[in-house]
Amino acid sequence: MGEDAMKDFISKLKELNLKTITGEMIGDDFCHDEYPGGHYCPEAVVEASSTQEVAELMKLCNEFGIYVTVRGAGTGQSGGSVPVKGGIVLSLKNMNKVLGYENGVLRVQSGVMLQEVKAEAEKNGMYYPPDPGEPTATIGGNAATNAGGPSAVKYGKTRDYILDAVIVLADGSVETLSNQEEFSSVIGSEGALAVITELNLKVIERPGADAILLFPFMEHEDAIAAAKAICNADFAPAVVELLDTDLVEFSAQVTGNPVFPVEMDGERVTATLMVTIEGEDDDDVMEKMEAIAGLAEEGAINCLDILVGDTSTMKREFWDAYSSFHASMESGAKSAFEVNVDVPVDVMTEMISFAKEIAEVNGFKAYIHAHVMSGGMHIHIASDKTREETAASAEAVRSALYAKVNELDGDIAGEYGIGYAKVEYLCDDCRTEFEKKKVKFDPKGILNPGKII
Ligand SMILES: Cc1cc2nc3c(=O)[nH]c(=O)nc-3n(C[C@H](O)[C@H](O)[C@H](O)COP(=O)(O)OP(=O)(O)OC[C@H]3O[C@@H](n4cnc5c(N)ncnc54)[C@H](O)[C@@H]3O)c2cc1C
Repeated sequence: MGEDAMKDFISKLKELNLKTITGEMIGDDFCHDEYPGGHYCPEAVVEASSTQEVAELMKLCNEFGIYVTVRGAGTGQSGGSVPVKGGIVLSLKNMNKVLGYENGVLRVQSGVMLQEVKAEAEKNGMYYPPDPGEPTATIGGNAATNAGGPSAVKYGKTRDYILDAVIVLADGSVETLSNQEEFSSVIGSEGALAVITELNLKVIERPGADAILLFPFMEHEDAIAAAKAICNADFAPAVVELLDTDLVEFSAQVTGNPVFPVEMDGERVTATLMVTIEGEDDDDVMEKMEAIAGLAEEGAINCLDILVGDTSTMKREFWDAYSSFHASMESGAKSAFEVNVDVPVDVMTEMISFAKEIAEVNGFKAYIHAHVMSGGMHIHIASDKTREETAASAEAVRSALYAKVNELDGDIAGEYGIGYAKVEYLCDDCRTEFEKKKVKFDPKGILNPGKII
């Protein structure tokens, strides 16, 4: 765009009277997210506080062909909210109002944080189950990435809790997202098809009681077989997490708080399965735990032991240790990066072995945990050398892992999405499919350019 056209745009933007930040006043936070990639700053940041303001901004940007990158809390791990091609960052953090609750439906603006959605549900005696790892993420960001988390095995992902949503299209028109085709296109489209401004969320009744079981195993294969046995036996576990012992051990060393087993009877445990069982009350949970122990006695679960966490202190300790994996990798390793992907559960063991091998060949070590039945894998690759020293080999590991996921019919988007971090690894069919949607929703290509495709 020429200088005159840009001046014209900025003066029209000022006329809209939106909260706008330009030049040196733009904080560094708007130039990156939690993905350890580059630094890209926008020409201006607009902080909208209503659907109407978003619509006005989009109309103007569409008219001038100005790029708009939507930003929630910027906790994304794939660079999704980073303005890699410049233009405007549209920040929705000020759209943080809870609009109401009625009969199991919570209405919120999209900048409300996940932790507030959960608290608001609880205040109304209800439960919002999706639990992607970052509580300060916005619900709009969760919807735009269809965020999951450990409870997805029983409760599903964010998409499963959105009854309808208000969206603003690239040309500034406002729609209610209820038609199924639009719904499945926009939710999970990482801000590249539309801006989500308000959501009606389904909340449910919380189960009466729960307990956590830990099953240590000698082989990953046995842990995954056990996960399948527990799910197939209709216990409907709320969480089925595979914790690789290398990760458990590394994290325990960083936090100084060993919680998950590393050794049993002098032998190294290879992995632990962390399973949450829910029920109507404590008796119901106890009955289910006894039935699961029965499966182990019959040999359907080939574990070394079963450890029970049924007090609130124990459960909190398990969750605290689990929640510290990510931060431990970041603070404990000289350089570390994460590859987050989904693979079918039947090939998860193959993916684990591949990740460990390819990491080692390139001078790294792989530390893994996985949401077993929903296929989500968090593969942390770490080294005791610096990021600069390992840059080339890190790229070799990254591309080998994404190629393997495509070969195994997995999904490289995983939970974190494609953003700009994974664009070059997207499979050709996936790219073609998304391009068709992009042309339909955003013909001028102004929304979140440089992402997904
Ligand atoms: C420690 C840690 C743990 C994490 N664990 C998980 C996990 O377990 N599971 C998981 O899924 N994610 C996880 N994440 C990633 C991140 O929290 C999620 O992707 C989250 O959904 C992003 O929300 P956000 O508000 O920060 O969005 P941002 O990072 O600001 O944006 C993410 C993407 O969504 C788009 N977007 C944001 N808001 C809107 C909107 N209203 N309308 C349209 N597009 C929008 C952006 O353009 C961008 O493409 C984790 C992150 C951290 C830092």
